[in-house]
Amino acid sequence: SIAMQRILQRRSLQLREKQQDWKESLEGQKMLELRRSLPSYKERDALLKTISQNQVVVVSGETGCGKTTQLPQYILESEIEAVRGAACSIICTQPRRISAMSVSERVAAERGEQLGESVGYKVRLEGMRGRDTRLLFCTTGILLRRLLVDRSLKGVTHVIVDEIHERGMNEDFLLIVLKDLLPRRPDLRLILMSATLNAELFSSYFGGAPMLHIPGFTYPVRSHFLEQILEMTGYRLTSYNQIDDYGQEQKWKMQKQAQTLRKRKSQIASSVEDALEAADFREYSFRTRESLSCWNPDAIGFNLIEHVLCHIVNKERPGAVLVFMTGWDDINSLKDQLQAHPLLGDPSKVLLLACHGSMASSEQRLIFDRPEGEVRKIVLATNMAETSITINDAVFVVDCGKAKETSYDALNNTPCLLPSWISKASARQRRGRAGRVQPGECYHLYPRCVYDAFADYQLPELLRTPLQSLCLQIKSLQLGSISEFLSSALQPPEPLSVKNAVEYLQIIGALDENENLTVLGRNLSMLPVEPKLGKMLILGSIFNCLDPVMTVVAGLSARDPFMMPFDKKDLAESAKAQFSARSYSDHLALVRAYDGWKDAERHQAGYEYCWKNFLSAQTLKAIDSLRRQFFFLLKDTGLVDSSAENCNKWSRDEHLVRAVICAGLFPGICSIVNKEKSITLKTMEDGQVLLNSSSVNGGVPKIPYPWLVFNEKVKVNSVFLRDSTAVSDSVLLLFGGNISRGGLDGHLKMLGGYLEFFMKPAVANTYLSLKQEMDELIQK
Ligand code: ADP
Ligand code: MG
Repeated sequence: SIAMQRILQRRSLQLREKQQDWKESLEGQKMLELRRSLPSYKERDALLKTISQNQVVVVSGETGCGKTTQLPQYILESEIEAVRGAACSIICTQPRRISAMSVSERVAAERGEQLGESVGYKVRLEGMRGRDTRLLFCTTGILLRRLLVDRSLKGVTHVIVDEIHERGMNEDFLLIVLKDLLPRRPDLRLILMSATLNAELFSSYFGGAPMLHIPGFTYPVRSHFLEQILEMTGYRLTSYNQIDDYGQEQKWKMQKQAQTLRKRKSQIASSVEDALEAADFREYSFRTRESLSCWNPDAIGFNLIEHVLCHIVNKERPGAVLVFMTGWDDINSLKDQLQAHPLLGDPSKVLLLACHGSMASSEQRLIFDRPEGEVRKIVLATNMAETSITINDAVFVVDCGKAKETSYDALNNTPCLLPSWISKASARQRRGRAGRVQPGECYHLYPRCVYDAFADYQLPELLRTPLQSLCLQIKSLQLGSISEFLSSALQPPEPLSVKNAVEYLQIIGALDENENLTVLGRNLSMLPVEPKLGKMLILGSIFNCLDPVMTVVAGLSARDPFMMPFDKKDLAESAKAQFSARSYSDHLALVRAYDGWKDAERHQAGYEYCWKNFLSAQTLKAIDSLRRQFFFLLKDTGLVDSSAENCNKWSRDEHLVRAVICAGLFPGICSIVNKEKSITLKTMEDGQVLLNSSSVNGGVPKIPYPWLVFNEKVKVNSVFLRDSTAVSDSVLLLFGGNISRGGLDGHLKMLGGYLEFFMKPAVANTYLSLKQEMDELIQK
């Protein structure tokens, strides 16, 4: 051990020498000067002192003040200077892959090194670190997984959890685990970093840990809401404009709402006032966050963004523009559109950049650097640019007001989700991005009254994502009792919702009666989708009908590709009905529509096909890319073996696909009572329910099946079911739920006392053994 000590000592001395050399070099001096200009530098000594004297420290500071790039570096440098370099191991977690990668590269460069020397990174399926790596940037998920095999984080000296203000699920999760670990590792240091001033919450969670604030400075930023923007740019907001605008990518919620609230008032809304009035908002105003869904900002569309950008390029002072969009799909489509524009697409005038996950580092550099000459830099980004990435020369911000809320994500591979409204805090944060170097301007593409209805802060992810996935994760990480574990969270979820989630997982066969993970549960925990969707994917691969099942699952994760424009509703409905012909299934209609589109695409007729059938090409493309991700994941987790030929052997069998859909959506079932000329639907919990008018089963006089399975129900005045698929008794008996809970009797009870046929004992026994066989198969 003395020999070991000596080796460590020698290595530490080498590290110190190397660091010293760099600091004395010309380039190193220049870098140092730059780093010293950041606000965090003034706090360096105070930070290091507090960290050495306390096990937990909470650090807050304005975005861009140097938390992420500097603070871990200060610790590393001071350890190296104290000749402890070889023994130190710092882990800094980032909520996103891209920040882990780009920050590590930046920090290595600031230290005059290649990535993988003293600084490295690790994200899922990728990484760069070497024997001497002392500072590792990784995603939160990577650290969680490490904790699974290495419960006490042996050898780690500092853990830094970054961007905790985002209150991401993984971060909240990690904090529970670390809080439990700290007493067992008194030498371990934990540093929490946050962009905003809500440090008290975290401090009190860790028994009053000291808080340190890095003071920053930003210039004032002027806000323009939609009303002023229209006035300023002379843009006319008409409902026809809106239709053309976002191409066909609309769900037309706003128009639909308007229609139900009041007969169509005016086709053309030439101002925000008119548009609001058409949707009946002046009277109803946005008192709740739910009512916000009526104002569809997508309807504002790309053309308005284009218009605002032209206005800035033509009329405004120099300075980069940062555009906040909801996701890659939107960013890419907008980029395509802008590139075709005579002014915005002219590279001698505009440098158009998209800030996305798989950015090459040369492209990243363009984002941080100032362009040459008179060229205007326009960066299209997601809410990642709110806090994780700082574009210093941004003077103008364009804010679409929405963000894709990240779903639960066990693998750091976030599936696509519906965009939803941001909070006031996010809107403020976005606006603040314009005031880094001089006073700025922010264009909010929504009316002031919409802003007023935003929630103050976004709910923590732990409280807004389905708990079922979370419970699976707790079990797969072997963290003990689900309810006990969750009750020690920063903001614990309701006990009743935990109970419901556990029960649901037992019904679908992911947990057994004692809350232990089943084989199915383990496999589900590896797929970053909701358990019901995961179960469909797994059954789709077991029953060799993967393609259509992947389409259904992708369709349920993306938005609806069937469009129902307000003024052509009848045509759109009959287009959809033609896809569902005799299937009584919205899900199968989607499969047929998607297959038809793929076919048309092969003959370069994709757009025409979409146009004729009221389909959104953009959504179909999103479905396409999700499908590819699913396939990759299934292969990656070993659920589909690499020779993928067999997995589509039965894909053309719609009965089978219907059964798999039923397996996934169960216990979302309702019974159908066929009357003379109409049907009545009932669920066990709600009594009578209604179908959404956009469902192919809505308004159908008769459905030749006894049951409907559905994905989602919404309570308005009555309970409405969205997409549904009709299924038979036998399919429901064989594919619904999981027999191990109380045998066939229990199973029948599950299906409700109102199973409307009398089953002979012989038939019942046949079902029992068949069902048992199948459940066993699934559990294998
Ligand atoms: P914080 O974490 O407090 O938001 P950062 O440490 O991320 O701040 O950033 C500090 C400064 O370093 C910012 O001014 C940012 O623009 C700059 N910076 C970060 N990454 C790069 C990079 N790859 N290239 C150039 N500058 C960068
Ligand atoms: Mg940061």
